[in-house]
Amino acid sequence: MSTSSENSLSLIEEYYEEQIIRCMKCGMCQSICPVYYEDSLETGCARGKLALSEALLHGKLEPNHKIEMIFNKCLLCHACAQVCPVGLSPDKVFAAARAEMVKRYDMPWIKSLIYRKLLGEGKLSSLTGTLSLANRLKLFVLARSLSIPKIFGKSAIRLSFATLPDIPSKPFLDRFPELLEPNSKPIGTVGYFVGCAQNSVFQDVSEASVNILLALGYRVIIPKDQGCCGFPHYGAGDFETLKQKIIQNSSAFKKYKLDAIIISCATGGSGLKDVYPEMTKEDNLKTLGANVYDISEFLALKHLDDLKKMMPTDKKEKIKITYHDACHLNRLQGISSQPRQLLRIMPSYELVEMENSTKCCGEGGGFTFYYQDISSSIANRKKETIKNTGAKVVALGCPGCRAQISGALKQEGLDIDTKHTVCLLWDEIKKGKDSNF
Ligand code: SF4
Ligand code: SF4
Repeated sequence: MSTSSENSLSLIEEYYEEQIIRCMKCGMCQSICPVYYEDSLETGCARGKLALSEALLHGKLEPNHKIEMIFNKCLLCHACAQVCPVGLSPDKVFAAARAEMVKRYDMPWIKSLIYRKLLGEGKLSSLTGTLSLANRLKLFVLARSLSIPKIFGKSAIRLSFATLPDIPSKPFLDRFPELLEPNSKPIGTVGYFVGCAQNSVFQDVSEASVNILLALGYRVIIPKDQGCCGFPHYGAGDFETLKQKIIQNSSAFKKYKLDAIIISCATGGSGLKDVYPEMTKEDNLKTLGANVYDISEFLALKHLDDLKKMMPTDKKEKIKITYHDACHLNRLQGISSQPRQLLRIMPSYELVEMENSTKCCGEGGGFTFYYQDISSSIANRKKETIKNTGAKVVALGCPGCRAQISGALKQEGLDIDTKHTVCLLWDEIKKGKDSNF
């Protein structure tokens, strides 16, 4: 029996009641859960949290902050969904459970500042100039040497080692026009979804993506009125802001006739493809994701042969490279072979696989700050598997993984770069232009 209407857990009911009931408590999800692997507590894995959801739903438990923290103890990595014999997506239930908690208690001010102001209202982009200056003046390095990140704990220390590219003084959306034409007659028109991190800090990814699309002959449209994808809000349980983002982004892209919408952020891509259709009942908004491609998916599917012709021809010793499968790319979008196909055509690199490449890096949005010990432990395991390959570069397709993994590697002083696949590809194309002409 459901709870009375004033206590109703409407978001869980609305989206996932049926999933909670179908869990047969088999425990298959234990074996795969990176959180359970670290702490061996039933509350770490999907089965435990689903049992908790069921008790809440049936009024056997009252929500409280302790329960809220248990729902936060999930990386939303989707690994449990892959092994669940009855086809559940427990991570989605937990996102809805977080939303119930936000509805009940609202967010603490710091979360509200990050999710609603910086990401929701796009204030992160207005901080780009400050971040750029701080990066150029090496203020992040100074803060680290003064042990300031220590105040915030292990994860902040690790992330303070993350390798940042040069950050331009303006956000990407201000630097690039809305419409970009290729040098020759366009072969098609694509929209480019930038995403928060790649509009401010990781602009190297957006630049590489747009430049490759132009080099292939596409007209590229970068709608100015696009915003955050909303996935961070989904993960934090702020469904109100998520819904605003769905409407904002759908109207930003739907006003153009586009052959495809390209995105180079794993999290944003899974938001558009997977979360948008679930979170809205309006067909008009649901369909945006149907035309969305991750950049590696699009390039490998449509242009592998064209790209091969753009590669440099001069022979050099190959650098060992390994690839990390971001959960939001591999599990939520089914993309794992495509980035590897791109890496294999790059003459400068030899791809060596790491063990457990699909295992989560432990970032998981707010998880890295809520559960710093577990997050650090998972990051260290990932670091060891990378180290064991002897690779000099780790390729990946997610800004969160990039910060987490590069932080873990550099914290140990390892000379291993962490780069988005598309940045490596654009570097090769530029070398190709020099060597082929
Ligand atoms: S694997 Fe699926 S059915 Fe089994 S306990 Fe986990 S969530 Fe429930
Ligand atoms: S989504 Fe990942 S971290 Fe969360 S319960 Fe499932 S396997 Fe564990």
